[in-house]
Amino acid sequence: MKVYFDNAATTRTCDEAIDAMLPFFTTKFGNASSLHSWGREAREALEKSRETVAAFLGADADEIIFTSGGTESDNIAIRGIASRHGSGHIITSAVEHPAALETCRYLEKKGFSVTYLPVDRYGMVDVEMLERELRDDTILISIMHANNEIGTIEPIEKIGRIARKHGIPFHTDAVQSAGKLPIDVKNMPVDMLSISSHKLHGPKGVGALYVKRGVKLESLMHGGGHERGLRPSTENVAGIVGFARACEIALDSMKEDAAAMGKLRDIIIGGVLEIEESYLTGHPTERLPNNASFYFRGIEGESLILMLDSMGIAASTGSACSSKKLQASHVLLATGIRPEDAHGSLRISLSRYNTREEVDYFLETLPGVIEELRKISPLWPK
Ligand SMILES: *Cc1c(COP(=O)(O)O)cnc(C)c1O
Repeated sequence: MKVYFDNAATTRTCDEAIDAMLPFFTTKFGNASSLHSWGREAREALEKSRETVAAFLGADADEIIFTSGGTESDNIAIRGIASRHGSGHIITSAVEHPAALETCRYLEKKGFSVTYLPVDRYGMVDVEMLERELRDDTILISIMHANNEIGTIEPIEKIGRIARKHGIPFHTDAVQSAGKLPIDVKNMPVDMLSISSHKLHGPKGVGALYVKRGVKLESLMHGGGHERGLRPSTENVAGIVGFARACEIALDSMKEDAAAMGKLRDIIIGGVLEIEESYLTGHPTERLPNNASFYFRGIEGESLILMLDSMGIAASTGSACSSKKLQASHVLLATGIRPEDAHGSLRISLSRYNTREEVDYFLETLPGVIEELRKISPLWPK
């Protein structure tokens, strides 16, 4: 049996998105800036996709900038505000994705001051502390909607209301929540919001940044003025069309998908926690419906992933980016987990394509794998 449980890293492109994209590689290959019929056809598809992605987020079409993905969206938002001010103070959290975290670290080197808010043991940002950290020169608050490693949903409504009260722009990285939690920017105090196609069954290399009308960003790139000058370069029309189709499907089926994934997630959590010295990471209730994350005492995460892989199961430890560095996950450390325990982490992330049979196979397989690894572990028995 082959089981893909690493949907927070990337998802399978859905057939509907592939079908929608194909003509834009073959007959409809025009440049959306060209004046002839090929160009107009591409432009029409691009603008229709913009409307679809806008509807997915509850935005207006002119508030959507297409990008190359979540990383670029985060960079355009954070650095776009920073460049416009030239100096100032930014508030973010200790558990952000590297796309936001490393961008803030870079700005710190460039002379900006940055507050990295700590989190509680569930990975939740303290909203009152955030308000206390505000300064006269605070230019931006950037806090993610839901965490990619532990699935914790941050209180972005409350954070956004504080930002509004103080007239500070608020950016949120919604790459993991889009398609799993309802997002409606018209009714959310959010000024900028990042999403990525390949995390919701669209193709890789495409994303979007919602920029509320009136929010001004300085462009990081200079060129032909595409995407309101914020993202010059010939538009990836095929990718954008596939992304829009994936958003459309995600919006239609979000309720059922989230409910179904939530059930499987709870079965996984219940089953895994029966293993001796296993612990849930992230928030017990305020978490993504597709995320089940844990750590196991006396286990080395990389070995666990390879053993599971040899049994046909794809999962991850730490985040896909940080796992290669062999450093304990900054997210788990921020929740107060000891480094040696953080090294024994496991993240299961589901998609709408996962089944009960796959969950049962995983739960039958995991205890034996943990037992084998503990037999050869210098950290076990504790
Ligand atoms: C995957 C991810 C990103 C990066 O998105 P890409 O499209 O791969 O650049 C950013 N933020 C979060 C929370 C993510 O999970």
